[in-house]
Amino acid sequence: MDEKKGLLIVISGPSGTGKGTICKSLVGKGDFLISVSATTRQPRQGEVDGVNYYFLTKEEFKTKIENDDFIEYAEVYGNYYGTPKSKVLDCIKNGINVILEIDIQGALKVKKTCPDGVFIFVIPPSMDELRKRISNRGTETPQSLMLRFRSAYEEIKYISRYNYVVVNDTVDMAVKRIQSIIIAEQCRADRRKGKILDLEEEIIDE
Ligand code: ADP
Ligand code: 5GP
Repeated sequence: MDEKKGLLIVISGPSGTGKGTICKSLVGKGDFLISVSATTRQPRQGEVDGVNYYFLTKEEFKTKIENDDFIEYAEVYGNYYGTPKSKVLDCIKNGINVILEIDIQGALKVKKTCPDGVFIFVIPPSMDELRKRISNRGTETPQSLMLRFRSAYEEIKYISRYNYVVVNDTVDMAVKRIQSIIIAEQCRADRRKGKILDLEEEIIDE
């Protein structure tokens, strides 16, 4: 494990559980960058290109796949989503922690190439609350809402592949939990071997 490298933090969870809200609230609350994904889905009201997503046509997305521009990409609810490679890898190489908010297929792909990443699954307090949240967001057609809600039951089966589970009961608490996970991960002994060796050398020198 290269200690100078930043952490790769992956956040997944069912649609409507509050991942986007949590990530928005995390901005400025720690030393990490939140990666902006590319997608072929249509922007929702208020979403800005380059801020929420890079909104691409299917052709543009396909060209990026051919150019190997993504760390991972997946088809989710009928659209393509992908994590831009060069920015994320540059940040990690330069010691900057990066958060990816991606679906489970993407997370499992990242886990294969980056097993020392930190994998966090966000769950709602209840399935009833999840249904209310997706529906109240007002962004989905009845079909898309049903697809997302049904998928949630499949998605939660993958929780055991993650390192942490965060309940999004209140945004404040969920944000605190994620901040705590990041701090704890940075303190892990196997990530601080160099620091431990420095201390041991000092002891030998004395
Ligand atoms: P996701 O990114 O996981 O699809 P969003 O962040 O878009 O979910 O949240 C879905 C809806 O739930 C939004 O309308 C958001 O305002 C609301 N929401 C998010 N977190 C909470 C929470 N802790 N309590 C109540 N509503 C929430
Ligand atoms: P939404 O359309 O609600 O913004 O996102 C739908 C799903 O796509 C969510 O589960 C979200 O985490 C996922 N997603 C967003 N960006 C990416 C990405 O770059 N890669 C993958 N695999 N999934 C993503």
